[in-house]
Amino acid sequence: MSLPHPAADVIVIGGGVIGLSIAWELARNNVSVRVLEQGQFGQEASWAGAGMLPPGNPAAARTAEARLRGGSHLLWPEWTEQLRSLTGIDNGFHRCGGVEVSLPESHESLDARIAVWQAEQVAIEPLATEHLHTLVPALHPEIARGYLLPELGQVRNPRHLKALLQACASSGVDLRPGTPVVDFVRSGDRISTVRTPCEDFTAGEVIVAGGAWTRTILQRAGLETDFEPVRGQIVLLETRPSLIRHVIEVGNRYLVPRPDGRVLIGSTEDRVGFEKRTTAGGIAGLIEFARRLIPELGNARFERCWAGLRPFAPGGLPRIGRVPGTSNLSVAAGHFRAGLQLSPMTAVLIRKLILGQPGDEWSDELRPR
Ligand SMILES: Cc1cc2nc3c(=O)[nH]c(=O)nc-3n(C[C@H](O)[C@H](O)[C@H](O)COP(=O)(O)OP(=O)(O)OC[C@H]3O[C@@H](n4cnc5c(N)ncnc54)[C@H](O)[C@@H]3O)c2cc1C
Repeated sequence: MSLPHPAADVIVIGGGVIGLSIAWELARNNVSVRVLEQGQFGQEASWAGAGMLPPGNPAAARTAEARLRGGSHLLWPEWTEQLRSLTGIDNGFHRCGGVEVSLPESHESLDARIAVWQAEQVAIEPLATEHLHTLVPALHPEIARGYLLPELGQVRNPRHLKALLQACASSGVDLRPGTPVVDFVRSGDRISTVRTPCEDFTAGEVIVAGGAWTRTILQRAGLETDFEPVRGQIVLLETRPSLIRHVIEVGNRYLVPRPDGRVLIGSTEDRVGFEKRTTAGGIAGLIEFARRLIPELGNARFERCWAGLRPFAPGGLPRIGRVPGTSNLSVAAGHFRAGLQLSPMTAVLIRKLILGQPGDEWSDELRPR
């Protein structure tokens, strides 16, 4: 058995967008942090995502999810600027705007989604058919209904992860890739040691941000939870720049245009455990969806496709906070389809918990059970 490594104040397990955001937020508040990542940093769901950032408005938000989204919405420009000035990396964040449309079979879901935006007093404009087609000239001529969400944004998630990683390194975070957590030593309600194959680590606080693997990690501490992986498949096409400028959404499926002419088509929801691969049916369905919206995409160059494992927690809300029955173990996981958009405010909630700063009452709903 190896000797315990010198202690950090906090160990974060998992180096995706959630773990790295937490590490950076803590480090810039003078907390000494170590991140243990089983593979390479930011190569799982956080890399696989489309980087779409729906808007929010914390002032009118009524649910914990809306507060988390609204708080993050306000933080994205600030985080982008701070990361850029610290690392020189442009994460590609911009408010490209989004257009929500409906296909013949999906009118009801459009109405339900619009009602949510309106209740939150998020900027939203109904688009008359003519205006819709002026805004998105490549749209299929038979699509007649749409709403503009001018504040919807996007980020180039691989670049954002690179910026976070560099910001963590320059803020003194001890970053350990290739370091899977395989066991814990508990003494009473405390985690006294975190075990990896080569070294043991100790810290005052341990935060599990293991994405889809959070359940497995917590099981090693003797804790049963119900996190599960939900696979998402996604396609990348290359077409001409400005074919579309807005994110186009129909329910849970969407097109995200990058400024360089690439278009992401997302995404499936497959409950197949930890099987991270694409399927012919999944990819064909996404391409068919894209062609129904923007027929010209049928001529785009197919660049690549991939799949990622989203962390899902039953109930649909992320779990953020202290694990019941423990005094120094916390979790930040289960962000499902929204981990990129919700990452800044998640980091703020964890920072408040770790530093004993006044919490936000609304976040009680997110506490792990
Ligand atoms: C196709 C697709 C599209 C998406 N689109 C969007 C989008 O547009 N907008 C949005 O906001 N969200 C989107 N998401 C969701 C988003 O990607 C996730 O919610 C988010 O990445 C979760 O971040 P995470 O850090 O919790 O998980 P991950 O990024 O998966 O990170 C968890 C990390 O923990 C590590 N780990 C696991 N076990 C151990 C262990 N034992 N020891 C050490 N490390 C361990 C893993 O290797 C991994 O790096 C999308 C997801 C997919 C798959």
